[in-house]
Amino acid sequence: MPRESLDFEEVRSIGGYDFRQLLRLLPLIRPHRALLAGSIALVLLITLLDLALPLLIRHAIDRLILPPSGGGPPAAVEAALQGLLLTAAAFALLVVLHFLFSFVQSVLMETTGQRIMHDLRMRLYTHTQDLPLAFFAKNPVGRVVTRLTGDIQNLYELFTSLLSFLFKDLLLIAGIAAVLLVLDWRLALVTFLVLPPVAAAAAVFSRRAREIFRTLRIQAAEINTRFAETIGGLRLIQIHRAETRNFERFARLNLENYRTGMDQIRVLAVFLPLIEVLSLAAVALVIGYGGSRIPGGAVSLGALVAFLTYIRMFFRPLRDLAEKYNVLQNALASVERIFLIFDTPNPLREPPAAGAPRLTRIEELRFENVDFAYAPGEPVLRGISFALRRGATTAVVGPTGAGKSTLLQLIPRLYEPTAGRILLNGIDLRSWPKAAIRDRLALVLQDPTIFSGTLRENIFQGLPPPRRAEEARIVEAARLEHLLERLPAGLDSRLGEGGSTISTGERQLVAIARAFARNPEIILFDEATSAVDSETEQAIQEALLGLLAERTALLVAHRLSTVRAAEEILVLLGGRILESGTHAALMERRGFYFRLHQAQAEDGTRPLRDSPCTGRPPVL
Ligand code: ADP
Repeated sequence: MPRESLDFEEVRSIGGYDFRQLLRLLPLIRPHRALLAGSIALVLLITLLDLALPLLIRHAIDRLILPPSGGGPPAAVEAALQGLLLTAAAFALLVVLHFLFSFVQSVLMETTGQRIMHDLRMRLYTHTQDLPLAFFAKNPVGRVVTRLTGDIQNLYELFTSLLSFLFKDLLLIAGIAAVLLVLDWRLALVTFLVLPPVAAAAAVFSRRAREIFRTLRIQAAEINTRFAETIGGLRLIQIHRAETRNFERFARLNLENYRTGMDQIRVLAVFLPLIEVLSLAAVALVIGYGGSRIPGGAVSLGALVAFLTYIRMFFRPLRDLAEKYNVLQNALASVERIFLIFDTPNPLREPPAAGAPRLTRIEELRFENVDFAYAPGEPVLRGISFALRRGATTAVVGPTGAGKSTLLQLIPRLYEPTAGRILLNGIDLRSWPKAAIRDRLALVLQDPTIFSGTLRENIFQGLPPPRRAEEARIVEAARLEHLLERLPAGLDSRLGEGGSTISTGERQLVAIARAFARNPEIILFDEATSAVDSETEQAIQEALLGLLAERTALLVAHRLSTVRAAEEILVLLGGRILESGTHAALMERRGFYFRLHQAQAEDGTRPLRDSPCTGRPPVL
């Protein structure tokens, strides 16, 4: 496995697991401790029953079956027969009790497990929703989703199987060892001769298995990531006809995974029969040594049969150990990954509620020498200073990659400046609760996210159900009539996942409708660069102008008509503000903005027509 293809967390996992991680699960268990205690108490009872059954067999053989066969007075035979019936009845009773206890115990245990996982999933979901976006740049979505689903399932299995191992199996093993020693310590010690080889086999197995499980897990993560990325980028892959190369990469990954899987099977294929052989060796020892002691009367036949029964019981959990080990390994990795999410520091920490300033209305949003980098050492924005004043529209123009979209995303604090400050009414944005700014702004992205659901749910997402009049007002303001005419069920139409059933322009109209529905003080608008048909284009322009009226706005603009709507224009180049001013002032300056403008005017393929009514406006 090439290490460079793994990110930091997988590499961390290679270093081995810390069992102390498990202690961190205790707070999750605490609320359910009553259920758990009930379950453990039942396990104790079940173990006692398990231990009692062979003793009953011994009693039946030694006291009731053997003596009468040697002949005796009919009364004694009669009494023995009755005793046998009674013993059989007791045996049946114990078996029924065993069944009932086991049933209740496993229901209790699984309920506890399910509840803990339910809590954990809620916590993880809430935490994931609050994570800074920067986290997802480092952690592919496929991996995070695996965590929310697969890792929690692993933990569930850890919980049920580890606890049952600790309380059921270990207890049973210890109990059996104790009973054997009491029954006949010499025979017990001879039987225990097989234990050193069992321990050696387990040690070799666990070392070998650990490496294999680890590799398997890393490979599974890579396969998941590859799947998620492939599906996410399918359009591009199909257009670039990259299927074959992708297929080859995936085939290689899959083959490695298959080989490791086969290694695992080989290891298990040796371990399981080996344990079986050792268990039969113990049986042979009991029959050989124990049998030889029967004639002398040192061992009774009943004790011998009980021994044999105990030995089969003793080895059963040992055989399961292999499987439990697998679960444990997987689960430890899962615990570690889940806590890695919980431990991700959230730089967007809320200021203490008591100390937070109160916001009445947004007067000014000021950038002061703001720097920003997605990756350390690769600045995307440098020394940005400007102010958005109440009610004014500011446009940002500049070539692709200049940092325009990034600038926009700093305002809702999707990312934090790496240096400098953003001031809201003169106070650092970080001193305000996140909600202060987020509740008052609407962000319209180039390619807005559409959630699977109806058009209405998409527009009013996170808001109380709208009234009819409100709906009609928003449909009109956002110029959604054309879209609604096309959709048979109107606002109740279900949009395909990711909005694949409506065009990019229409998606942007839906996003504008979302903004209207929120009635925000600030609009952050990232104009789509992609071509949109002129009718939709015009609808977007009109809707946007309506949205901008009376509101504070920062627009990333590509079309001249949008730029013209702005009181101030910032020209961004290479992450810096090169020039700023009104359209007229910038044209007069004859600087970069002027040249950008001229270049497009001269581009014969894109005539300069700046009114949306006369066709498609120029793209700056
Ligand atoms: P613009 O909107 O002007 O086209 P962006 O703000 O999208 O520019 O991007 C500015 C720079 O930041 C580009 O070099 C881009 O590659 C980089 N960039 C954008 N988003 C990310 C991201 N999520 N992670 C890392 N780099 C990014």
